[in-house]
Amino acid sequence: MRDGDHYVLNGTKTWISNGLQGACFAILAKTDPEAQPRHKGMSMFLCEKGPGFTAGRKLEKLGYKGIDSAELVFDDYRVPAANLIGGEEGRGFHNAVGGLELGRINVAARGVGVARAALDEATRYAQQRETFGKPICEHQAIQLKLGEMATRAEAARLLVRNAAEIYDRGERCDMEAGMAKYFATEAAFENAHEAMRIHGGYGYSKEFVVERLYRDAPLLCIGEGTNEMQRMIIARQYIQRHPA
Ligand SMILES: Cc1cc2nc3c(=O)[nH]c(=O)nc-3n(C[C@H](O)[C@H](O)[C@H](O)COP(=O)(O)OP(=O)(O)OC[C@H]3O[C@@H](n4cnc5c(N)ncnc54)[C@H](O)[C@@H]3O)c2cc1C
Repeated sequence: MRDGDHYVLNGTKTWISNGLQGACFAILAKTDPEAQPRHKGMSMFLCEKGPGFTAGRKLEKLGYKGIDSAELVFDDYRVPAANLIGGEEGRGFHNAVGGLELGRINVAARGVGVARAALDEATRYAQQRETFGKPICEHQAIQLKLGEMATRAEAARLLVRNAAEIYDRGERCDMEAGMAKYFATEAAFENAHEAMRIHGGYGYSKEFVVERLYRDAPLLCIGEGTNEMQRMIIARQYIQRHPA
């Protein structure tokens, strides 16, 4: 709601990364709840913490503990109208969507990192650990896992590279970014799981890196749009690009 040269924000948003440590946030808020279509009633503001803008308690989570996660609370928070991004109401959704392609490529690249780390850890361990008189990497069952993991990691890397190149050329890449995000983060999840199994009992120990990869990987499938949503975005865009 506008009040003179300020806007007054009320509401909450949970699961905000660095919500506790962060001081300044980009906030998407409804400035015209009656607007049709509804996304035209949203605006984005740069908001600094202060009176009326606080963070709730730290949310405990499975992994990704290097960043804090918290709920942000707005209680009659007054933000100067000068902090309206773009200087015009109703452009907030446009601003947010504009960052999604890059955000998804970013998460996809992190997926490649986890998929690759899991592969590296598993490959190293499989050459060191011996059972039945030979390193486990010489057992066919382990080779099948490593072969799949290596292929997934490389395919994920190529999808991310493809999306990033299209983005850098300034072309539309929602489908390619969605493919990269979906595939690379599922690759991270699957490779982390397989690396844990290759480590046997030690995969369950906090003394080995694979335990952390196993806890970190699922978030990549959820954040920046769940992988269910990515597949729908890919399909819609694919259909649009291939009319009957
Ligand atoms: C650790 C962490 C950090 C986060 N950091 C941030 C942050 O910094 N900023 C921020 O804005 N958000 C952040 N989030 C929120 C995150 O983006 C959302 O949790 C995520 O987008 C999923 O939304 P949701 O939790 O509301 O799930 P929901 O939307 O409730 O989804 C639940 C399930 O239903 C499915 N689903 C929902 N709608 C549909 C549909 N239309 N069709 C088919 N399936 C559907 C989903 O795929 C999912 O499987 C964070 C979340 C976590 C866990």
